[in-house]
Formats: sequence, structure tokens, C-alpha cells
Amino acid sequence: MSAPVLERDCVIAGGGPAGMVLGHLLARQGLRVTVLEKHADFFRDFRGDTIHPSTLTVLGELGLRDRFLELPLTRIDGLDVVIDGHRLDLVRFSTLPAPDDFLVLAPQWDLLDFLARESAAYAGYELRMSTEATGLILEGDRVVGVRATSPEGELELRATLTVAADGRHSTLRPEAGLEPVETGVAIDVLWFDLPRPAEPFPHTLGYVDGHGIGLTIPRDDHYQAGLVIPKGGIDALKQQGLAAFRALYAQTCPPLASVVDAITDWNQVKLLSVQIDHLERWWREGFVAIGDAAHAMSPAGGVGVNYAIQDAVALANEIAAPLARGDAPVERLERVQQRRLRPVLRMQRIQAAVHARMARAVSGRGRILSPVELAAIRAAQPLIRRITARVIGRGFLPEHVAPRN
Ligand SMILES: Cc1cc2nc3c(=O)[nH]c(=O)nc-3n(C[C@H](O)[C@H](O)[C@H](O)COP(=O)(O)OP(=O)(O)OC[C@H]3O[C@@H](n4cnc5c(N)ncnc54)[C@H](O)[C@@H]3O)c2cc1C
Repeated sequence: MSAPVLERDCVIAGGGPAGMVLGHLLARQGLRVTVLEKHADFFRDFRGDTIHPSTLTVLGELGLRDRFLELPLTRIDGLDVVIDGHRLDLVRFSTLPAPDDFLVLAPQWDLLDFLARESAAYAGYELRMSTEATGLILEGDRVVGVRATSPEGELELRATLTVAADGRHSTLRPEAGLEPVETGVAIDVLWFDLPRPAEPFPHTLGYVDGHGIGLTIPRDDHYQAGLVIPKGGIDALKQQGLAAFRALYAQTCPPLASVVDAITDWNQVKLLSVQIDHLERWWREGFVAIGDAAHAMSPAGGVGVNYAIQDAVALANEIAAPLARGDAPVERLERVQQRRLRPVLRMQRIQAAVHARMARAVSGRGRILSPVELAAIRAAQPLIRRITARVIGRGFLPEHVAPRN
């Protein structure tokens, strides 16, 4: 028996931040849109959980901001960094214009569940969980949809536009003949949860010194802790044993030293293989890639979720009107890439520069900053904290949701 065929204006592979926001934006314009998510739920730990001011602005423009802020989440005005034992106030979101002058930490599944609930009200919206896009359907050179496997069996979804929002290990982008260009990365990150220590300490992004780099992201009832390691260094670390790992983290992040014994098994420690890449071409006829599928971001600055959402806004602004006429002109898809690639590459260059500094720290070569560098940073702190808030919090060329057609 042949697979059932569904006809849509847009089919989106991937229910991550890019796909879920794009689905919402297009359904809000009255379009028939299906989002395919291969997992049965959104519950995945240690994903991008930082919602930046640029995303709060997008949620505000969609009328969702107040309801989103009612979820249990942590608001953060700014982030300190402790370098060589010196606390520096280097990112201050409260210097941005109100009301979006803070950062939100929310588990990614809460954001995605929220978007699913809010999108369900639109008649043309469909979210298919446990449904994996397995390949593209082509007519000549034109992509006309995807094949998928679902609990009900094989499916064919035909659409005017097929979107790969299936993340940095995208299945669909190689199918579309699009190859990413890799930027060499010298670091990986280990993530693990630690309980809150008895002694509270100020919101701190990380601790950097000759021992290494430890990350301390406050969550409602615990800390999301991170340790930056040299690329591929996990095996060497495991050989030294869990006690050496705990001691390294305790040395790097003294405020969490008292709770590091909570790590009793390597299964509690998740490796993020850090990656930076971008597609030279994001589109072909009937097809476009967005989010991590178009450009994997490093976790430096925690911008991945927000850049993925900005792509979704840029694409919806360009394509909603033609899609309503049954068309997805390649010039529009090309315009989305032109608009978004510049901010993406600028941020990736900054991330690569941060990695270079991090690699120096994790190579254990002693102090990170010379006394002169430290004094210069201290003197420039008021300016630095405004610039970093702008670059990290709002990003380059922030997108705005176009009014409904
Ligand atoms: C461990 C880790 C920590 C991170 N920390 C941060 C952070 O603190 N802050 C931050 O902003 N960013 C962070 N990032 C990056 C951030 O998570 C990503 O940049 C962001 O989620 C990209 O969104 P996306 O929608 O493009 O892709 P993804 O979030 O990767 O979503 C892709 C979705 O597609 C689904 N999928 C994949 N293949 C298929 C298929 N064939 N069919 C159907 N569905 C499919 C996946 O299950 C997934 O739900 C982190 C990433 C990782 C891996």
C-alpha cells in the first residue's frame, strides 16, 4: 500500500526553537503548516536554555511575552565572570532598553511546550511528534516535500516549501546537496547538574583561571555546571578518574566545591562536542535550512536558541505572503540567507575568538590576564558591560515580526 500523502503550504522538519517558532509564525498567517518532531516529547537536558532579550521582544510582538513570563523561570539582569580570582561585571542586560532588559533561563522543553500550546489554536497548525523526516521528495530539481516515518507508518508530506530545522546533525541538508563549512574548534564542554550549595553566591557565568574554565548557570533548584575541556579531552579526563574530575571542577569553581561530590558516575556528565559551521547556501528550489541546520553555533554567549529564532522570524517575514499564493520564490529564500548570514558569521567570529582565549585557559598555562590587561578591563567595565549586553542580548541585526497579512 502506498504511503498517505498530505498537502501543506509548509512542512518543517524539526521541533526545536527554529521549527516551533516558524510553525507558529506561519500558522498565525493562516497557512497550513506541519512541524515534524522525531522525539515523542521535548524533554532533552542540557540544551540551550537561555532566552535572550531579542527573543523576549519577538514573543512580545507575537503577544506571547506575558504568558511566557508566567512560566517558572529565572530572570537574570547580568552576569559576572571571575577571572584569576577577580570578579568582573562584564555583561549587564539591565543597560538595554526596557522592557526586554533581562535574560531568562527556562528549560528548553518549557519554551517548546509553550509554543506548541499557543500554536494549537491556529486551524492550519499541525505538530506531529514521534515523526521523523527521512528524505526529500523531488520533482526534477525542485523539492516538493518530505518522506517521514511515524507511529502510523510511512508518510509523504507535500508542501510548497520544505524547511530543514532539524538541527546541527540535519538529515535533510545533505539530502538537499548542501554541505556545511566547518570552523575549527579547540574546546568541548561537559555539562552536569549540581545541587545549590548552602552558601549562596552572585550570578556568575563562569570562573576562569589557570586550572580551567567552570560554568555555573543558576536554575530554580540547582546549578547547571559546565567544565570547558580541550577538544577530544574527555577520554584523558576519564582515565584520570572521577575523583580527579571533581577536584578539577572544585579548584576551578570554588563556590560549588562543597557540592561537587554529588557527581558519583560519569553517566551524570554529558559531553557537548562544540561545533561551529555554516552552509554556504541555505536553500534550493522549494527548500531552505534555518537554525543549527544552517549554522551550528558554539555555546559561547548562549546565543544558539536566539539565532535559530531570529532565522525563523526572517523566513516567515519573507515567505508568508508568497506561500499564501502557493509560491516560494528562490529570491526570497536567498534574501533570508543574505539577511541572516552576516549576523551569524559575525557572532561565530566572536565565538571563535572566545574559544581561542578559552583554549589558553584550559591548557593550564597559568594566569589568563596580565596585571595590565586586568587593569584595562576594570577601567573599561562600564562600556564593556553595555556592549556585551547589546551583542549577546540583542544580537546583530535583530529581527522583528511583520504584521499579519
Ligand atoms: C548540550 C547543548 C547545550 C547548549 N547550550 C546552549 C545555551 O545555553 N544557550 C543557547 O542559546 N544555545 C545552546 N545550545 C545550542 C542550542 O541548543 C541550539 O543552537 C538551538 O537549539 C538550535 O535550535 P534549532 O531549532 O535550530 O535546532 P535544535 O534545537 O537542534 O532542534 C532540532 C530538532 O529537530 C529534531 N529532529 C532532528 N532530526 C529530525 C528529523 N529527521 N525529523 C524530525 N525531527 C528531527 C530534533 O529532535 C530537535 O528537536 C546548546 C546546544 C547543545 C547541544
